Amino acid sequence: MTRKIKKWGTILNNQKYIALIDCDSFFVSCERKLNPEFKGLAISVVSGERGCVIARSKEAKALGIPMGIPLFQAVEKFPECFYIPANHYAYTKISKQVMSILKSYSPNVQVYSIDEAFVDFTGLTKLYKKNYYELAKEIQQKISDEVDIPVTIGVSTSKTLAKLASDMAKNSNDRILLAGNKTRLKLIKNSEIQDVWGIGRRLGLKLRGYGIKTAFDFTQKDDNWVKSHFGKNGLATKTELLGTMTSPISNKIELPKSISDTKSFLEFSSDLDFLKNELQIHIHSCCKRLRKIDCKCNSVGVILKTKDFRTFFEKVNLESGENFEFEISKTAFKILEKIYSPQILYRSIGIVLEDFNPIQETQLSLFGEEPEKHQRENLGKALDKLEAKFGRNIVRTGFTNKEVPFKQGFLTTPQDIN
Ligand SMILES: [Mg+2]
Repeated sequence: MTRKIKKWGTILNNQKYIALIDCDSFFVSCERKLNPEFKGLAISVVSGERGCVIARSKEAKALGIPMGIPLFQAVEKFPECFYIPANHYAYTKISKQVMSILKSYSPNVQVYSIDEAFVDFTGLTKLYKKNYYELAKEIQQKISDEVDIPVTIGVSTSKTLAKLASDMAKNSNDRILLAGNKTRLKLIKNSEIQDVWGIGRRLGLKLRGYGIKTAFDFTQKDDNWVKSHFGKNGLATKTELLGTMTSPISNKIELPKSISDTKSFLEFSSDLDFLKNELQIHIHSCCKRLRKIDCKCNSVGVILKTKDFRTFFEKVNLESGENFEFEISKTAFKILEKIYSPQILYRSIGIVLEDFNPIQETQLSLFGEEPEKHQRENLGKALDKLEAKFGRNIVRTGFTNKEVPFKQGFLTTPQDIN
């Protein structure tokens, strides 16, 4: 009996409280902060001049504007909405202001994306003499007063639960949800399986095939079953849904906001194969940098600059994190084909990878997915090792077959190899 009480006491003492702070419609909120006249109006943020809608205000959503609709279609169908080109530089600056407020409350803050961060709340109630709800309320108010950005906060005992809590909090008036041990059960019973962090639509469908509809259903499955079907990451998700954290808040790595690579051509070109080859070189260099920091990106953008200095940029969100050339090229080539015109002469091409997650985090989304994804990861690492030993571009990935003259900077030079 004594042993049991002692053990329970230990669990309570080790109980973590994690908050997930999520900025509401971040790009839209930033635009409204910068241009207060947009408050209350239907606005959409668009990726570049010929881009797509990447963020919508609730008024724009109410008009029925779909996410990802190309600008020209959106303008035609929904002329009453204001379309604003994305200003990523400003958004990054505003994000830093939000994060610095969070860091002033806790030494353990994990910036998860431009508009989301996990904050270790454990023990802060004593320090600030407030309960977790009051603390979340204070932080929310401070961010609103000082940065003019609205945030939603979910607080619970693991990152996965904090994420679910913040999703659920979006439907409440105060946009805060504290899911302690008592409300945890209600939370997981009311959360659909595909909404659990790292599961998503595709894996959600697979789980539904096993009769698992909610997060709660998943926790009812036997550990061995979960492990044999979804590996150790599946088991970690189950543990997190049951209220125990499986990966710590890591504030050690400050992830870069983006990794990009661009270069002007020696001669202007409108040859699509040449552009693809040039793009492939940049993709390879960026993927290498991404693997070096053990990250995956969730967004791929392509920049094309014309002879007369016009810029075309478009980006696409990936279904799941990637850091391997083949997968990123597939998306990048699709973008290129969309923004490219054979009548135009171009002076440069570039790639922008954004929205990074550490591999440790993205592992959660890997369980149950195709084994090729793990093979690609290993292939990427092998490629980097080969290059470290034998020199740059010793192995080429996904280049087009068409030979391109050396002067255009495509082929490997002997100097590169040495
Ligand atoms: Mg957000």
